[in-house]
Amino acid sequence: MKIAFIGLGNMGAPMAHNLHKAGHVLSAFDLSPDACRKLAAEGVPIAPSAADSLAGAEVVISMLPASQHVESLYFGSEGQPGLLERVAPGTLVIDSSTIAAATSRKLAQAGAKRGIAVLDAPVSGGTGGAIAGTLTFMVGGAASDLERARPVLEKMGANIFHAGEPGAGQTAKICNNMLLGVLMIGTSEAIALGVANGLDPKVLSEIMRRSSGGNWALEKYNPLPGVMENSPASKGYAGGFGTDLMLKDLGLAQENAAAVRAATPLGGLARSLYAAHSLAGHGMLDFSSVIKLVQKPG
Ligand code: NAD
Repeated sequence: MKIAFIGLGNMGAPMAHNLHKAGHVLSAFDLSPDACRKLAAEGVPIAPSAADSLAGAEVVISMLPASQHVESLYFGSEGQPGLLERVAPGTLVIDSSTIAAATSRKLAQAGAKRGIAVLDAPVSGGTGGAIAGTLTFMVGGAASDLERARPVLEKMGANIFHAGEPGAGQTAKICNNMLLGVLMIGTSEAIALGVANGLDPKVLSEIMRRSSGGNWALEKYNPLPGVMENSPASKGYAGGFGTDLMLKDLGLAQENAAAVRAATPLGGLARSLYAAHSLAGHGMLDFSSVIKLVQKPG
């Protein structure tokens, strides 16, 4: 299949690479020349612009940071036309960015008016899952469009769920990330408490991983450097899932909770803690660096 892939950051680059390896014909683009260069070095063809990447594309995939980036790509900004005007009718658009459900619905409605099928398909699984091709996709949109997308999604993910109507994928994603944000802080607190008592963090992490406190952070993403070889913590919190992206997702969860009058006290507290962590200058570090808030210095 001919696929235009836009947004080649921590997640987009390995996802595009997996599609390329699977034999799809890619035309990839990112506003960052550095991101384009890195993927070109792995043999993935790069287009000179997002609009150029569309030539002959049957599927368009975007993996951008936040709602405003998706809005400006598809609807245009500062007098520049949006991509949606240039996408050929009949094309399938899959936006895998984590954004506001309302933006996903707006994109789906605008696409439908032009005969373009749009799916929101945010992912979970981190950069490790993106590299391994084992992501979980949470898809909002028509079931028949998901069936069209499935062969492509299967090359990037191991679990594909139909969450419901347009925007439902985003709602599922912010529920999941609110839980992830909370559990990473809880895990950090527990490890920091044990270390303050002189416990070996590797032994403690293993005890909790196999006990009732076991969770994804302890399985795959330990927040303390040196406990897990390939975790972002052990690589200076570089790459991974940025604190500011987690902050964005917790903000989306709180906006949504306010709209439906849901009680999310821990989600609200987690948002405040990640905001403080970001303000302390750690916004670009992986979100597991939030352990710095509760670690004893030295
Ligand atoms: P990132 O910041 O590493 O990459 C985003 C890329 O988009 C950047 O390279 C940027 O230059 C590019 N970009 C922005 N606007 C653009 C435009 N108009 N045209 C072309 N390129 C543009 O972010 P990421 O970590 O890859 O995350 C992407 C999305 O996936 C976010 O919504 C994030 O919340 C979500 N997500 C991330 C992870 C993770 O572990 N990193 C996991 C699940 C979901």
